Amino acid sequence: MEFRIGQGYDVHRIEEGLPMWLAGVQVPCDRGFVAHSDGDVAIHALCDALLGAAALGDIGKLFPDTSDEWKDADSKELLRIVMERVREKGWEVSNVDVTIALQSPKIGSLVPRMRDVIASVMDIEKDQVSVKATTTEKLGFVGRGEGCECWAVALLHR
Ligand code: MG
Repeated sequence: MEFRIGQGYDVHRIEEGLPMWLAGVQVPCDRGFVAHSDGDVAIHALCDALLGAAALGDIGKLFPDTSDEWKDADSKELLRIVMERVREKGWEVSNVDVTIALQSPKIGSLVPRMRDVIASVMDIEKDQVSVKATTTEKLGFVGRGEGCECWAVALLHR
C-alpha cells in the first residue's frame, strides 16, 4: 500500500456582524470571518492538507477568490469537490486531524458536531476525523481576537 501525508494551514480575520462558520458548523457568535467564501478556515486548512497529500495544488488555485463562482461559497461544497479530485487519483483517506486556534467563543462543545459534519461531507467515518480546539492564552493576533488560525493534517492511502 502507498501512503501520502499532507498538511494545510489557513487564517481568517474576524469582524463584527459576520457569520462564523467553523468545520462546517455555525458558531453562535456576533463576530465572524472576513472571506470571499463563507470563511470556514478549518475546512480551508483541511482542503489544503488533502490537496497537499495528493499533490493536487492548493485551494487558492482550485477555487480562485477572484472568481464569482466561489463568492460566498459553502466551504463544505469545496471540501466535497476536493474529495472528488482526491478519489479520482485513486486515494482514500486514512484519517484527518484539524487544530483550531480561536480565543473566543469557546467551541469545545461543538467539536462532536464538527466531526460528524466533516465525516459526512468527506464520506468517511467519524473516528477518522479529529477536531481539536485551543486558545493561544491571549497571545498574538488570535489571542487579541483579531483572527482564527487552523492547521490540518491528512493521511491518504491507495
Ligand atoms: Mg481561507
